[in-house]
Amino acid sequence: MSKTLPISEVAIIGAGPIGIELAAALKRAGVSALHFDAQQIGYTLSWWPRQTYFFSTTERIEIAGIPLPNIHQQRVTGEDYLAYLRGIVEALDLQIHTYEPVAQINRLDSGFELVTQPRSGEQRYQAQRVVLAVGDMHAPNLLHIPGEDLPHVTHYFGEPHPYFRQKLLIVGGRNSAAESALRCWRAGAEVTLSYRRAEFDPKSVKHFILPDLLAQIELGTITFLPETIPVEITPTQVILQRVDGTILEKPADFVLLQTGFLGDMTLFESAGVTLEGESRAPAFDPRSMQTNIPGLYVAGTAAGGERKARYSYFIENCHVHVGRIVQHITGKWPEKLGTIPSRQYELPLEDIQAN
Ligand SMILES: Cc1cc2nc3c(=O)[nH]c(=O)nc-3n(C[C@H](O)[C@H](O)[C@H](O)COP(=O)(O)OP(=O)(O)OC[C@H]3O[C@@H](n4cnc5c(N)ncnc54)[C@H](O)[C@@H]3O)c2cc1C
Repeated sequence: MSKTLPISEVAIIGAGPIGIELAAALKRAGVSALHFDAQQIGYTLSWWPRQTYFFSTTERIEIAGIPLPNIHQQRVTGEDYLAYLRGIVEALDLQIHTYEPVAQINRLDSGFELVTQPRSGEQRYQAQRVVLAVGDMHAPNLLHIPGEDLPHVTHYFGEPHPYFRQKLLIVGGRNSAAESALRCWRAGAEVTLSYRRAEFDPKSVKHFILPDLLAQIELGTITFLPETIPVEITPTQVILQRVDGTILEKPADFVLLQTGFLGDMTLFESAGVTLEGESRAPAFDPRSMQTNIPGLYVAGTAAGGERKARYSYFIENCHVHVGRIVQHITGKWPEKLGTIPSRQYELPLEDIQAN
């Protein structure tokens, strides 16, 4: 039996970097906020492959005006960043209901009702405004081919060790595929990379990864199968189709499908938010991040919707979402965002409209 708890000024759904940055800014502005995450804080980063370095440099991913310390002045790993997020939550004493997924948003005459599903049973909360900071990586972008669900096939690259002295077929041609190919080859796997395009797009592979990958392909240490698409996976091989329609059978002990991830727009839909374009991105006013539903905002990478194509939102260009929301709610731009002087994120309106 659920019970309804007292009304709060704001409810933030999602405790990734941007949800946490927003919680910090609202707390500093004296605005009461309820904060939920379906999992642990920083959940999206927690399933990154172990020891993966950000492509973003540290000053671009710092949040809430708090420096991200490191002893090497280089990019940091996902694990480093999770420690940083934990430190911020502790230092600012942010109260976050973790492992409490928000299942539904109901519009009330004044404000919203959130229905959550923690392990202990359904809860209901009320808030005058709601911010959806739920990210854009809820589930893998499935290929929908036979064998995709076999136990030796995965969309999640955890670490290279399981592939030592194994035939590993990787599908994909962007950052994740390129990086896992190199790491697994260096950890002793026999790596084949299948990509649907003829060549890699330098905008989609980190500039410090691509030359290394191309060198290994040229040397033949990593086998590259351009313009191939997997059509079936069996326990021992992957059946690939070339652009000319011919079939290639490639033996594989393990298959890593690095085909990207999609956002889940169910919560936006349940609240009546208009979803636009192929990516079903939420409609919002770029000056305030308010959606077509008054009082309901979007922040962070969730602004890109399901995002079927290229990523357009990263931590670095989402700090500004926090500023716009806080300004819309309190009338004042927050003093601390990122660690680059916060005014740099406050784009003049003309720039916002041009984007
Ligand atoms: C391997 C890899 C490398 C990357 N490198 C970079 C990089 O260098 N720079 C960069 O900027 N980005 C990078 N990214 C992307 C990065 O993870 C995102 O930019 C960042 O996590 C977005 O932050 P966010 O706060 O908008 O959303 P997220 O971090 O995705 O947070 C969303 C949160 O919402 C929660 N949530 C979702 N649904 C619900 C619900 N119904 N109820 C309650 N909570 C919910 C989730 O559990 C999650 O914790 C990388 C991603 C991967 C996989």
